[in-house]
Amino acid sequence: MRSIDKIYLDGAFRTPHGTETFTLMNPSTATPIGSVTLADEEDAKAAIAAAKRAFTTHSRTGKAERIEMLEALGAAVSRRVGDIKEAMMEEYGAPQLFAGWSAQHAADCFANTVRTLKDYEFTRRINTTDVLMTPLGVVALITPWNANAGFICSKLATALAAGCTAVLKPSEMSAIQTQVVTDALHEAGLPAGLFNIVTGRGDVVGSVLTSHPDIAKVSFTGSTAVGKGIVRASADTLKRVTLELGGKSPTLILDDADLAAAIPMALQAGFMNSGQACIAGTRILVPESRLEEAKAIARKAANAMTVGSPADPESRVGPMVSQKQWDRVQGYIRLGLEEGAELVAGGEGKPEGLDGYFVKPTVFANVTNDQRIAREEIFGPVVCLIGYRDEEDAIAIANDSLYGLQSYILSGDLVRARRIAARLETGRVIINGAPHEPLAPFGGFKQSGIGREFGTFGLEAYLEPKSVLAPAA
Ligand code: NAD
Repeated sequence: MRSIDKIYLDGAFRTPHGTETFTLMNPSTATPIGSVTLADEEDAKAAIAAAKRAFTTHSRTGKAERIEMLEALGAAVSRRVGDIKEAMMEEYGAPQLFAGWSAQHAADCFANTVRTLKDYEFTRRINTTDVLMTPLGVVALITPWNANAGFICSKLATALAAGCTAVLKPSEMSAIQTQVVTDALHEAGLPAGLFNIVTGRGDVVGSVLTSHPDIAKVSFTGSTAVGKGIVRASADTLKRVTLELGGKSPTLILDDADLAAAIPMALQAGFMNSGQACIAGTRILVPESRLEEAKAIARKAANAMTVGSPADPESRVGPMVSQKQWDRVQGYIRLGLEEGAELVAGGEGKPEGLDGYFVKPTVFANVTNDQRIAREEIFGPVVCLIGYRDEEDAIAIANDSLYGLQSYILSGDLVRARRIAARLETGRVIINGAPHEPLAPFGGFKQSGIGREFGTFGLEAYLEPKSVLAPAA
């Protein structure tokens, strides 16, 4: 059994003031694997004070010094990629393929930020005026349990590149990932206080961070409901906020697509990270005239998908993170049936022979876009096939959502796909499974968030422009 009983404060691992503990579970076996001692309000305040002291010097560092820091952090995290992958698999059952990609992404964040920083001009001239891009101050970085390591690394890299210092509050359900990453970040040997990591509850540590007057900005990745609460909590002190929230992403399979190839690709996007991904493509839009064909292919592909522990490299769908999340997903499957959707694959209950929090990869058809299973984020391996009449109808259905994080287009005609992409109300559009671009902005339209991360757009979210006007010498 693991015991994670330290927080990272002012450059050292310390025993928290908080004494509450949280039990860590292995979701593949539904058995306890350890506990984490949670930070409390006092710890959060101490972390903010440490970051505030460090801001005085860090805000005045130059590009070269920051690049050196990011390179040291990147090298340290790179050495632990294998451990991060293992932690993700153990702690929330991330399938191997996803965990491998995600762990490498965590390490690569630092080099990607260096690329952005090298090209960035912190001072610009507009006619008679110097515009100085100035670091905001101490920032609070709040992360969810899924792929937590990557969120810690990408937010921290950008904050430090901008000259900000940070207090990180990762989810209590991702304490093992946090531990591995914190060990690595510590090994980089940066000055004390630049970053402080206090795992604790959202309503305890999170509440202090989102209301404290010494926090200039909150960068949050998590659910839309909590994101709205953060906007309210931070309003009194007018904090800057970046919110990366939930999604209900559409996959538009155009009528020129080869369904035999497109449906398995769409299911892959829907069941990504066992469906526990903000960008999961959970609404699959197919031409009405080809719905029967689509259903048959989807049934076969979903039934052939290996569900199981991430220890099995063949496993494509792992467990839900917790019993609570398993119950929630089951509730949505029941709701789908009650709403009159047709069950094409999967359904209620656990797959045969699996005791952990596993869900059968579930495909519903005959779903209309106004049903709750098509509107609400389920965060499990449950997708809907929705028929559309023509291109206009497909675009209207895709855009008829409270969310707007990502969309997918599968088509044999790239010109047509790009034309449709321009009309979709989402922060990213992925055409024919194109690979990730780490320097392009990432973030949501509508209730999927506020602001952008990555690259120059992400960096500027940690900077305030200051105009200095002086008479000609
Ligand atoms: P969550 O919103 O429950 O928690 C996220 C973080 O917020 C955790 O660290 C939690 O402790 C903290 N928190 C909770 N209440 C808080 C409060 N009152 N004040 C401050 N912090 C508080 O989300 P989760 O279950 O950990 O993650 C799943 C959700 O995250 C899904 O909705 C998913 O779509 C979303 N997500 C979004 C992205 C994105 O980039 N858009 C990426 C991953 C996950």
